[in-house]
Amino acid sequence: MTEKLHHFVNGQKMAGVSGRFGDIYNPARGTVAKQVPLASKTEVEAAIAAAQAAFPVWSATPVGRRAQVMFAFRDLIRSHMAELAELVSSEHGKTLDDAKGSITRGLEVVEFACGIPQVLKGDYSESVAGGVDSWNVRQPLGVCAGITPFNFPAMVPMWMFPMALACGNTFVLKPSERDPSCSLRLAELMQEAGLPDGVLNVVNGDKEAVDTLLVDDRVKGISFVGSTAIGEYIYHTGSRHNKRVQALCGAKNHMVVMPDADMGQVVDAVMGAAYGSAGERCMAISVVVTVGDDTADAMIEKLMPKLDALKVGPYTEPAVEMGPVINPAAKTRIEGYIQKGVEEGATLIRDGRHLVVPGAEKGCFVGATLFDRVKTDMSIYKDEIFGPVLCVVRAGSYDEAVQMINEHEYGNGTAIFTRDGDAARDFSHRIQIGMVGINVPIPVPLAFHSFGGWKRSLFGDHAIHGPEGVRFYTKLKTITSRWPSGIRSGAVFNFKAGGEH
Ligand code: NAD
Repeated sequence: MTEKLHHFVNGQKMAGVSGRFGDIYNPARGTVAKQVPLASKTEVEAAIAAAQAAFPVWSATPVGRRAQVMFAFRDLIRSHMAELAELVSSEHGKTLDDAKGSITRGLEVVEFACGIPQVLKGDYSESVAGGVDSWNVRQPLGVCAGITPFNFPAMVPMWMFPMALACGNTFVLKPSERDPSCSLRLAELMQEAGLPDGVLNVVNGDKEAVDTLLVDDRVKGISFVGSTAIGEYIYHTGSRHNKRVQALCGAKNHMVVMPDADMGQVVDAVMGAAYGSAGERCMAISVVVTVGDDTADAMIEKLMPKLDALKVGPYTEPAVEMGPVINPAAKTRIEGYIQKGVEEGATLIRDGRHLVVPGAEKGCFVGATLFDRVKTDMSIYKDEIFGPVLCVVRAGSYDEAVQMINEHEYGNGTAIFTRDGDAARDFSHRIQIGMVGINVPIPVPLAFHSFGGWKRSLFGDHAIHGPEGVRFYTKLKTITSRWPSGIRSGAVFNFKAGGEH
């Protein structure tokens, strides 16, 4: 019988009772490996109630004690790295090294959260008026919720809940129904680290679960990472219900290759950034904009042998560099885009359709695909394909490349490859994108900075984790104080200038 997963509420594993289940695939085999319960409204409300009940004690727990739980959690992630990576790879399909890398990126957020006593310190101004002092504190919002995508089943949840909990909130996590096991295991490890029951809950589900979180008055903050269509809906619905919402969404990341770029560095960067994790990364490079035809020709010539050598297969095989995509529906969608690209008139240089991996013939594999002479009105240029499909757009000039990127609806990441510091500086200044790399293809900010795009890649005012994460998960309170000895002059009925109170 197919293994059935559970929810994790109030410190306990809970079997799903809605009667609805979703399929979790083994992507390398193309078969259903597990089933996940899809929570009903009532089940989600029980998780919110557990988080609400845990809030008074957890938010009043000294910040140093909350940090101690994070330190213990950090150690547990490290000692369970192999197990967590196996959970990620078996459900997502990415290689074990890539899974470990992504868990490490999440771990770094936990490490930042270990420093929360330092980060949460407020400002203090002495004597803002006679006998009056003023300071500010940042207090938790209450119950917060996280809704996460399939492509980083460990890292993206860890962008959220460690920051939220360290700030004193309680949390309901709704992971992707396509690969939720890692989130369930992380919640158990948090409990082992000393987190009180009810502070972190995991409910599995789909739209019904998400909609319950979006409208429930007890939920004060929503962090979402996923596609733009859903993120926009979540931002508007959550905001309408008076919640603070951050929604990090889809992307189409361009890499500009200037004529003076180091072509060896360029092709290595392109291979990893376009085809790593089968292109299922919101920071994947999906468009290379070459400045000048000679640049395009030189890059493609150097890229071809690398494409031939790329090792595609299940994560269980040694030396595999690219795994399958998440499930059969994703494979069909991506292959549909390749067909559209052909029909739209782009030059298909490498076709990843119909790739057969010996021993895994039914797996959800799409081979590395390369299109040249892509035009900006084609759907393969405009849409996020979220697969191993790279488009080369030939620009006549650097200014044309900049304009193209600035006019694209997405604004997550971008990169420029050049030896010219002047061009790099101009690019980083003018480009309308949230995260910019200079000879760095995937410029993901470290945990002590914040991650977030512009335009239709982020709805809401806050990027995620780092200092922005602290701002998102806390409310500012400013206190102005005078002790009785300062009250000497009777009542004051009008505002006074210059700090006179
Ligand atoms: P998705 O939008 O399909 O799902 C994300 C979450 O939303 C899941 O938990 C899912 O259950 C929920 N959801 C799906 N349909 C819903 C609906 N109709 N109503 C309410 N909730 C719904 O995204 P995905 O396919 O899991 O992930 C891939 C997407 O995530 C890509 O677009 C990628 O660019 C994006 N992504 C963005 C970032 C970023 O930081 N900007 C990071 C990772 C992934």
